[in-house]
Amino acid sequence: MHHGADIANPLGTPLYAPAGATVIHAGLDQPPNVFGPYPDFFGNTLLFRLDQSWREQPVYVLYGHMNTVDVSAGQHIERGQPVGTVGMTGIAIGPHLHVEVRLGGSTYEQSYNPDLWLEPLPGLGVVAGQVVTPDGRAWPEARLFLYRVEAEGSRLYQILPTYAADPGLRPDPDWAENFALADVPAGVYDLVVRLGGQLLTQRLTVEAGRTAYARFVVAP
Ligand SMILES: [Zn+2]
Repeated sequence: MHHGADIANPLGTPLYAPAGATVIHAGLDQPPNVFGPYPDFFGNTLLFRLDQSWREQPVYVLYGHMNTVDVSAGQHIERGQPVGTVGMTGIAIGPHLHVEVRLGGSTYEQSYNPDLWLEPLPGLGVVAGQVVTPDGRAWPEARLFLYRVEAEGSRLYQILPTYAADPGLRPDPDWAENFALADVPAGVYDLVVRLGGQLLTQRLTVEAGRTAYARFVVAP
């Protein structure tokens, strides 16, 4: 289980604030300020609360594994302001930014899939949805096959799993998704689920800057 989006970039690449926010923590992920599953998981960590709340609930964003953190707790930051640099501190194999979105509180357990919160890059969209039983229970760890439909035929773009059972990633309160995939180029796709002896397909149009949603109901 992984709670964040990993964005690989060279060591020292500048990081910017995505929106107006107040810095809650800037520094090591160590007691009494532990934000990961155990101390020093995220290394140099930046946690900030967005100025904008969601349905009166605070929204927190966490940047992990930073090389330098160039702002301090209590400081207000603006969209586009440099806040530090990409690193590989804490538990990281190579330099990357680990981004999390936490809703209602700032604990590790309150993280939601950041793929549904990050503004897609130009030309890209998001695919999300549910694989559920007829009585609405999520199917854990089912595999979905996403095919890109082109004039010359379909080709497999990505295989994605549904969220694990407890302690899986929390579904968004509105979307109630149990799968999501960001950075999908705009276009037409077939999403295929092969489960319980059934083969289900839905055609999706991914639009730039938007989320395409699919719901599959599969009897156990
Ligand atoms: Zn990560």
